[in-house]
Amino acid sequence: MKTILAYHTINNPELFENQLKFLEGKDVLLTVDDGDISFYENAYKIILKYDISCILFIITSLIDSDQPFWWDEIEYYLGKVEGNKKVWEVKGWPNKEREAYLEELRGTSAKPILKYKQLTTSQLREMQDAGIIIANHSHTHPLFDQCTQEELETEMVQSLNVLKESGFTSDIFAYPNGNYSQKSEEVLKKFGVKKAFLFDHKINRKKNFNPLRISRLVVNDTTPMWKFKLILSGWHTKILPVTKMLAKLKKRL
Ligand SMILES: [Zn+2]
Repeated sequence: MKTILAYHTINNPELFENQLKFLEGKDVLLTVDDGDISFYENAYKIILKYDISCILFIITSLIDSDQPFWWDEIEYYLGKVEGNKKVWEVKGWPNKEREAYLEELRGTSAKPILKYKQLTTSQLREMQDAGIIIANHSHTHPLFDQCTQEELETEMVQSLNVLKESGFTSDIFAYPNGNYSQKSEEVLKKFGVKKAFLFDHKINRKKNFNPLRISRLVVNDTTPMWKFKLILSGWHTKILPVTKMLAKLKKRL
């Protein structure tokens, strides 16, 4: 089984290319969640120089729009520190409450509505033609373990409509934030998803792993090379609980 890496934004092309040089010739798959414009601007042309496969997971409601990611909106309205805390809290709320909260923020804040340049269909087509796989990261990026059956089905119907209409890949999916549940897995199956990716910072070790729960290692372009190598070796995942425990102890001291 390939080693699968999960990225988000790529803002430093130089550091990113150093990582690709290290990965070349290895059995790895790059995956990039959310479809941030930085992938088009800083990453995709570099990837093409190397023999490495890559899937870009897009949020279909944002394509061709100037709407920001919802977590960036919360940070914009509340400020970076407070906003970041709130994002973590909101991820544990039922989907309806999350949506209502965002509406309230937009409606009651004195700040102008936040705008953000998203990828266009023609940029996505250009990347797909060059060999990047464009696949599903849901329609609006809700947390799938916090959605009702109806909400899950709506997410799938709407995202698949966009992907199929534009000729993108409709049977590969990455769970928003990596959150999954038995119920959401059933919905994915029902809508013909063949492979679904988590965000769990793990390597797929078992031979008969569930193709709807594929593990990924979490990295970013600024991950230092020593750490990047450690993560790829699988050792980082093993020592992570220890480092987390140490961090906790330090906090107490
Ligand atoms: Zn995401």
